[in-house]
Amino acid sequence: MTHHGRRDTTEEAWRELVSTARRTAAEGLVVGTSGNVSVRVGDLVLVTPSGVPYDRLTPEDTVAVDLEGRQVLGELVPTSELPLHLALYRETDALAVVHTHAVHATAVSTLVPELPLIHYMAAAFGGPVRVAPYALYGSPELAAHMLEALRGRTGCLLGNHGTVTYGANLDQAYDRTAQLEWMARLWLTAAALPGRTPALLSAEQVAEVAQKLKGYGQRDDGTEG
Ligand SMILES: [Zn+2]
Repeated sequence: MTHHGRRDTTEEAWRELVSTARRTAAEGLVVGTSGNVSVRVGDLVLVTPSGVPYDRLTPEDTVAVDLEGRQVLGELVPTSELPLHLALYRETDALAVVHTHAVHATAVSTLVPELPLIHYMAAAFGGPVRVAPYALYGSPELAAHMLEALRGRTGCLLGNHGTVTYGANLDQAYDRTAQLEWMARLWLTAAALPGRTPALLSAEQVAEVAQKLKGYGQRDDGTEG
């Protein structure tokens, strides 16, 4: 790729990153600057800066680091959750990562070690979504707990903290966060009725859905029709 082509690719990726970050705020998945988003472009990781509201981010604010976390583009400080993003790019095939403090998902992270199988869409995450034990934000311990919780999964909860999802692109990572928040809200809603306990799916039923989703190819969002 020419030097010029690479710059265009980085600019386009930054535009998509900023628009995804703004979506997390607009959809109520984060409040203020409490989440972060990243995308991998070759050996670069573009990441939201620390403490800057997403609506103020311009093309000049592009922040990029290498896979070891050394800053290669921009003046602003990368998100404090950088270790979590880098761990995913080093250890999985992730090309985009979304981290939020979405309220229902975070509430669930304080109640159970994994999100109960309330809906077949758990299959879109590879099975029951686990909760990583609490550790200090931005710490290598948190990144390690997250990787453990993400074994065979594309999303997890961080105990008393929030959500992490990844995907092959920003849209996929974002959609998984939205689905995870929806599923957490669904379980909280069903579990809140006094004297009633929600029926849950078995691991086998969810595995059967995972098989079927694979056959959907492009339409892998689990919607019927
Ligand atoms: Zn966080």
